[in-house]
Amino acid sequence: MKYGTEEQKRAWLPGVADGTRVIAFGLTEPGAGSDNASMKARAEKVDGGYVINAQKTFITAAPMADNALIFAKTDPELGAKGISCFMIDMDMKGVSVGKPEKKMGCKGIPVSDLILEDVFVPADRLIGEENRGFTAAMKTLSIARIGAAASALGIAQSAMDEAVKYTRERVQFGKPIYKFQGLGFMMADMEAKLRACRLLIYDAAYKADRGADVNMDASVAKYLTTETACENADKALQLHGGYGYVREYLIERIFRDARFHRLGEGTTQIQQVIISRELFKCYRCPGQQ
Ligand SMILES: Cc1cc2nc3c(=O)[nH]c(=O)nc-3n(C[C@H](O)[C@H](O)[C@H](O)COP(=O)(O)OP(=O)(O)OC[C@H]3O[C@@H](n4cnc5c(N)ncnc54)[C@H](O)[C@@H]3O)c2cc1C
Repeated sequence: MKYGTEEQKRAWLPGVADGTRVIAFGLTEPGAGSDNASMKARAEKVDGGYVINAQKTFITAAPMADNALIFAKTDPELGAKGISCFMIDMDMKGVSVGKPEKKMGCKGIPVSDLILEDVFVPADRLIGEENRGFTAAMKTLSIARIGAAASALGIAQSAMDEAVKYTRERVQFGKPIYKFQGLGFMMADMEAKLRACRLLIYDAAYKADRGADVNMDASVAKYLTTETACENADKALQLHGGYGYVREYLIERIFRDARFHRLGEGTTQIQQVIISRELFKCYRCPGQQ
């Protein structure tokens, strides 16, 4: 949406909007996770387009996708400034996917390797300018982090819902367990953090809609909400006692699904890196205007 030409947007976006087209996002490699710029994927310019060789890993929806955005080096000597972005079709010659990973959670969507061996990609599949793909990826991720935070918020909320439901029903020592103040305080803590995270996400989304730079806001929202989702899922599981540890209860799944969100779209530590970097941009040095 942000970097495609009108023609590219018309070709791919209506299908994404109506759910008939799935586009994967191929950035991560076995040796290049948080440090994406060290990727090995290579796109060599040839007559009429590029030939891409790449091994992308942990690519969400790759086994079921129609297309994928692939980031590859067009000018390896320029490092992060030599990376470009391409839209490939999954049925192009030389494209294959690995076995779906056996994940701990988020089992509703497959994740696998995505391999490109001498794949010819026509020149009109370049998204944005040549060698500007890394900036595009970073700007896309900055907005996507608001979505990742919203997803984690849903998990934190469902952990809350399950905790309330269970502690109302479960009776020990002659009363529903939510009436024990220690447990009520635990749930008060969960609810307070949940509400704070919701406002952070809405604030970041509001600013993004108005075209503001949301690097700081999106990372703060992603960082705190994903940590809260894990914390709330853990507390809600504790409130279920032994029943929280068996598959029959939804909280066991919520606990596993929550854990992914501290890893994807930039880990918790990478959010801290971004927040600390942005923080020092906010403060001017003494004597500066
Ligand atoms: C289920 C799932 C789905 C995914 N979907 C996609 C997808 O669709 N597309 C895609 O491109 N990728 C995807 N990923 C990859 C994901 O973005 C990476 O796993 C993530 O960026 C971390 O990279 P890594 O796993 O190589 O860990 P590493 O980068 O090796 O990190 C290892 C540890 O070191 C820490 N660390 C690294 N660098 C620093 C630093 N500078 N300062 C402090 N700590 C640091 C990390 O926080 C982490 O704790 C997915 C991953 C999973 C698990």
